[in-house]
Amino acid sequence: MAEKHEFEFQIYNSMTKQKEKFKPIVPGKVSMYVCGVTSYDFSHIGHARAYVAFDVLFRYLKHLGYEVKYVRNFTDVDDKIIKRANELGEDALSLSSRFCQEFLTDMADLHCLPPNEQPRVSDHMDQIRDMIQKIIDNNCAYAVDGDVYFSVDNFPNYGRLSGRKLEDNRAGERIAIDSRKRNPADFALWKAAKPGEISWDSPWGPGRPGWHIECSAMSVAYLTETFDIHGGGMDLIFPHHENEIAQSCAACPNANINYWMHNGFVTANDEKMSKSIGNFFTIREVTKLYHPLALRHFLMGTHYRSPVNYSIAQIEISSEAVYYIYQTLEDCDGAISQFQEEIKTSGKKYSATDDAKKCVKNLRNHFEEKLSDDLHTPTILNAALQEALRLMNKILGMLKKKLQKPQKLSNIESLIQLEKEVRGVLDVLGLLSSSTYSEVSFNAS
Ligand SMILES: [Zn+2]
Repeated sequence: MAEKHEFEFQIYNSMTKQKEKFKPIVPGKVSMYVCGVTSYDFSHIGHARAYVAFDVLFRYLKHLGYEVKYVRNFTDVDDKIIKRANELGEDALSLSSRFCQEFLTDMADLHCLPPNEQPRVSDHMDQIRDMIQKIIDNNCAYAVDGDVYFSVDNFPNYGRLSGRKLEDNRAGERIAIDSRKRNPADFALWKAAKPGEISWDSPWGPGRPGWHIECSAMSVAYLTETFDIHGGGMDLIFPHHENEIAQSCAACPNANINYWMHNGFVTANDEKMSKSIGNFFTIREVTKLYHPLALRHFLMGTHYRSPVNYSIAQIEISSEAVYYIYQTLEDCDGAISQFQEEIKTSGKKYSATDDAKKCVKNLRNHFEEKLSDDLHTPTILNAALQEALRLMNKILGMLKKKLQKPQKLSNIESLIQLEKEVRGVLDVLGLLSSSTYSEVSFNAS
């Protein structure tokens, strides 16, 4: 059961376009699905942003006491994968499997907790074919020459997430006209195999799934057709998530997802990231130069729905901020262990200073208030946490001077309490570095 907390957890729902109180379908339990990567290359910092944002959500829900089932897929069958595999003369599934592994390495470096399930398309062909068949049976899709298309005209609610109307997709502008489609906005559920392409058998001939159907089929397989949270980058609202809703509801009229969450874009040097203009950064390129947690800190320094701009100047600032955090914790550990014997033998209980007590309380309140407000990480990193770190350093400075025993031990007690609270906050934010983590070895409270 979720614990009682002072602040009500609110999240911005892209479907209703407002912040809403979070209420899970099953009390105490949360089911969430986040669209994963198409694994044909190293992931870039735009991917890092999405998965750090949803990792903060995952961690915070657990902190609130929920039992969370988090599913994040791998698209391991796709046009881009097939194209890259052909270029490299490599088997498509072996190429995608290699980059799934690289992605997992990046996620571990960025302290993103592993989801409970990480399904791959190639392992779920039965579920995908079954769902396509259901959509055909329900008259919302049609097969033509080995392809299967979703018929948007037979799904009246099409466009309710993105707010797009079918007239907005004027034929020939964004979608190449295909005379076999009944409506230019119809999209592929199944694609007939071209010669030499990897394929799976199906009632419509050998082929492979269209991109969108996998998330509908795999979310049903792991979370059922009704679940709490669906997340992804803003660029997925249309067409990917719009099409997912259409497919899921066409296959199962009761399908429903209560909260849609989308993270904002990443630009680099104030421009859209692009390989051709040289401002494209993979996670690996950044983490070769900076601590991965500096990248995580940088990404959390902006609210997840706002655009974030990557630049060397910004990552340098985060790098210094992370260094300052770990240096402070290490100095605290040093001071506490230095006085450990003295505290044990003093036989008297010294309480923390009023300043320290106030600071601990403030950090705890501020942390829950801000994270409960649609995961507002920047104000925690830039305000309450800074205040606590400043006070810890001030106390560390005072301990270097000659102090009376009661004052000295009261300051140590202050450090112990401050450090415990700061570590707790860093843990939920995924910023606790295991290499500097050493459990405070005694609890003087
Ligand atoms: Zn998806």
